[in-house]
Amino acid sequence: MDGDAGHRVVVPLLQRLDLSLDRLVLSHRDSDHTGGVAAVLAWQPHASLLSSLEPEHALLRALRLSNGQAERCEAGQSWQWDGVRFEVLHPPAQDYLPGARSNSLSCVLRISNGAQIALLVGDIEAAQDAALLARIAAPPGVQGVGALHADVLLVPHHGSKTSSTPAFIDAVAPRWAWVQAGYRNRFGHPAPEVVARYRARGVAVVDSAHCGAMQWNSAQAQGMQCDRDLSRRYWHHGAP
Ligand SMILES: [Zn+2]
Repeated sequence: MDGDAGHRVVVPLLQRLDLSLDRLVLSHRDSDHTGGVAAVLAWQPHASLLSSLEPEHALLRALRLSNGQAERCEAGQSWQWDGVRFEVLHPPAQDYLPGARSNSLSCVLRISNGAQIALLVGDIEAAQDAALLARIAAPPGVQGVGALHADVLLVPHHGSKTSSTPAFIDAVAPRWAWVQAGYRNRFGHPAPEVVARYRARGVAVVDSAHCGAMQWNSAQAQGMQCDRDLSRRYWHHGAP
């Protein structure tokens, strides 16, 4: 437990920001999306969990034992807090089939305050890109301002070349595309052709290996900040 990212990074960060959690959304069961959650929930036991985890997953079993709240994410769910609307766009209930790939069940969350939109898509791949486009199509003749549009997009599947189809990028038409990926990770994320696909459309691509924690505030929506720039010391080298 001492070694996981929840314990070492997420809990101290949220404590420093003086934040408590009402709800925790886990896109899917892969360990890079669920590792460290036990530490976060132990610290915030009142937070409800929304996820695509299977009912027999160890996290949900532990939560049931402690009377925690958990719900399966399904397209159509929504809630509103302090003027901010949260909507689950994927997966539809019928996608929960035995043997379904975990990436394909990634909970896709749209967060909107009426002026700006953030879209968090987990590890969806091309098939889910297409399904989202088919279900949430842009109004005819209007490019890039359809229901999938977002100012900030958390790039699908860490920038894998199996995601971020041209049609999907066109529909979301983000100002920023954020990639969460480790420096020189073994998967080669983000794929250079995917980064190029965003940049060719004028989208600013920012990756966590170079930026560190990315901060964006809807009250200053024109800019974003990289933790590595804010806390840079003269002995820190920029990652090539
Ligand atoms: Zn992942």
